[in-house]
Amino acid sequence: MQFIETRGNDGDRPSAVNFSDAILNPSASFGGLYVPQKLPDMGIDFLADYINSDYKTLAYELLKKFEIDIEDDLLLEALGQYDKFDDANNPVPLKSIEDDCFVSELYHGPTRAFKDMALQPFGVIFSALAKQRDEEYLIMAATSGDTGPATLETFKNRPNIKVACLYPEGGTSDVQRLQMVTEDSDNLKVIGVKGNFDDTQNALKSLLSSEEFKAELKSKGINLSAANSVNFGRIIFQIIYHLYAYLELVRRDDIALGEKVYLVVPSGNFGNALGAYYAKKAGLPVKKILIASNTNNILTDLINKGEYDIRDRELILTNSPAMDILKSSNVERILFDKFGASRTREMMIDLEQDGVYRLGDDELASIREDFDAVYSSDSEGIGYMAEYAKKGYIMDPHTATCIKAYKELRDEKLPAIICSTAEWTKFSMSVAEALDIKTENDLDALKKISDHQELKIPVMVQNLFSKPVIHDIVIEKETIREEMLVFL
Ligand SMILES: *Cc1c(COP(=O)(O)O)cnc(C)c1O
Repeated sequence: MQFIETRGNDGDRPSAVNFSDAILNPSASFGGLYVPQKLPDMGIDFLADYINSDYKTLAYELLKKFEIDIEDDLLLEALGQYDKFDDANNPVPLKSIEDDCFVSELYHGPTRAFKDMALQPFGVIFSALAKQRDEEYLIMAATSGDTGPATLETFKNRPNIKVACLYPEGGTSDVQRLQMVTEDSDNLKVIGVKGNFDDTQNALKSLLSSEEFKAELKSKGINLSAANSVNFGRIIFQIIYHLYAYLELVRRDDIALGEKVYLVVPSGNFGNALGAYYAKKAGLPVKKILIASNTNNILTDLINKGEYDIRDRELILTNSPAMDILKSSNVERILFDKFGASRTREMMIDLEQDGVYRLGDDELASIREDFDAVYSSDSEGIGYMAEYAKKGYIMDPHTATCIKAYKELRDEKLPAIICSTAEWTKFSMSVAEALDIKTENDLDALKKISDHQELKIPVMVQNLFSKPVIHDIVIEKETIREEMLVFL
């Protein structure tokens, strides 16, 4: 399988590349992204063949379908990472919260957010490829709280990779911050930045576009890459769990094979939703993908009005920070899939130059065949968390945005699968608020919620509070470059 570019080819790069090239060097011509040339068929026949397979087997067979240039041994080693999840036999448990509503819990990995689903195997493959080629890579990430811990965790102590992770000081939960600053490995650097996530991200962007910095990296023989969901190496692992959750429903007789479901996805950078879209397109019986957002409702506007307009928008800080986003990178891959490279490039240029692009009526109709969308406010989310806590199910604020989509967006009474993207332990202050528990900090909230709901705090979360802090630097954003050079 070859990978092609969403904005067309500039004549300098190859017009198609292998999977391994697309993941080591994820930036394509004109600032575009890599996408598979075509999708394999994973419809009813495929589903029937692997209906009783465990997660790793299903994942392996799906990856084989993509015919990627990764050797079997390496693929199997990468998938072996799922053995570290809470239950190696069932890394993605599916819980029923209504007769026709199911929660696919994607957060049972080492950092308690769904980022582990893709980053855990991705890290193994990325590092092994870099080693095979005898190349050194630097991965830089700006995080609002979940990408950072998951990226550090997957790359720690891995050869040929260095990771630098910037987080906004005071902009993450205690658990998220501790997950980063306690990571002890020579190839990792964690830097707190004075400012909010936007400031942090902009500081990273300006560093990455600095010719001086690039020259310095080059002189040290270091290649720059990315581990966020612009990297297709992340996306491929985000197709699997949608199939798995569907098959789990079939195995439990909640649906018959072939019956359609809704997939409900709390979205930010749209990687999870893109995985759902590829699954649907490859043949998974999905009626529609319902996109849940918070008050940063840019995706709701795109899917309901056909307009992506960031001109008068400021990023709003919500209680679901992993979905606080204005430029949602993976929408581009959907646009490419539906409207082709030249139209995609046109829209992306419009967005960069004018801060807005608009879909035509036919284009919007095409998007709405696959997607519908709604957003909820923080207080609505807290309300849904409280409602389900009363029924005995605790969810985090990101997952809570899905409840409104489940309640309001289904045109037909088909079952819904909600993607739950974080464990309550990462956002315990919000959970405490929903439960009407007074708390001072994360640790206090964790203990009180754990007592109140008779829920266990996982050991890796509990241990964070007694681990030594390794990375204690917090800097002004102007000094990031110097800090980086010291690290390198
Ligand atoms: C990253 C993240 C999201 C958003 O996922 P995308 O694939 O970027 O749309 C939602 N919830 C949580 C908890 C996350 O960490």
